[in-house]
Amino acid sequence: MPSPLLNVDLHCHSTISDGVLAPADVAARAAANGVDVWALTDHDEIRGIAQARAAALDLGMRYVTGVEISVTWAARTIHIVGLNIDETNDDLLAGLAMTRSGRQRRAEDMAADLAKAGIPNVYQGALKYVGNPDLISRSHFARYLVEIGVCENVSAVFKKFLTEGKPGFVPHRWATLAEAVGWIRRSGGVAVVAHPGRYDLSPIAFDAFFREFKAYGGSAIEVVTGSHTVDQYLEYTKVANQYGFMGSRGSDFHSPDDTSADLGRLPSLAKELKPVWDGWF
Ligand code: AMP
Ligand code: MN
Ligand code: MN
Ligand code: MN
Repeated sequence: MPSPLLNVDLHCHSTISDGVLAPADVAARAAANGVDVWALTDHDEIRGIAQARAAALDLGMRYVTGVEISVTWAARTIHIVGLNIDETNDDLLAGLAMTRSGRQRRAEDMAADLAKAGIPNVYQGALKYVGNPDLISRSHFARYLVEIGVCENVSAVFKKFLTEGKPGFVPHRWATLAEAVGWIRRSGGVAVVAHPGRYDLSPIAFDAFFREFKAYGGSAIEVVTGSHTVDQYLEYTKVANQYGFMGSRGSDFHSPDDTSADLGRLPSLAKELKPVWDGWF
């Protein structure tokens, strides 16, 4: 049995996607915050893993390979985390490349939309914040719009501009749920629903989603995440047990300026939950 005192953080981002710290700097911050078991889970990218793993092992942390895959399900964006994947698996690599491929065009369309709304040159501006040219994200746009004083903070930008129905929002089709879970499973990994409390789904749609996820071979959901309230920790503990899912814990750290959880700074999983990392070490 793993020690209940282990500090496990299985969700965060680096400059390889939309985080602001390089993989080795995320590792250093995790270690400084007391994380024992750590995964970097960049959006649709595994190119930070080698650097993250080397830094983690140097710092005495246990390292878990990870990725957060963007999925479109029922016209909504859902994130699926893959843990313990083989990041050299060809099927996974091809799938991630395909998932990333529309981002460039989407970014140009977002900038065109924002220009029409009276904010020019946002594409060039956002690029200053992009660490990986294959992974331009709404977060980079948001940071630039804060920089030029359009909004006071990133979450205000999302509210006013980058979400459905707002200028700057461009609908996008990501991977399917079957594809994402399939790539994760076929590369030896475990598929985990990221921050389920963030999705705007009816109870009926949620039920259909969890059943479908399970049917494809998904086996865990995030319960303790920086995106959940304390009430949602309880709610998703019940949901996990109802569907027979294991539970995961992760900060979803992007930046030291985040208002949500810092690396490793989250409550423990409830004892009634089977941790997704059970049996890994
Ligand atoms: P993208 O993959 O380009 O659609 O960007 C998604 C990312 O935007 C998420 O992973 C978050 O990091 C960030 N994000 C989404 N919604 C919000 C929000 N309301 N406030 C702050 N960041 C957000
Ligand atoms: Mn993100
Ligand atoms: Mn996410
Ligand atoms: Mn994330």
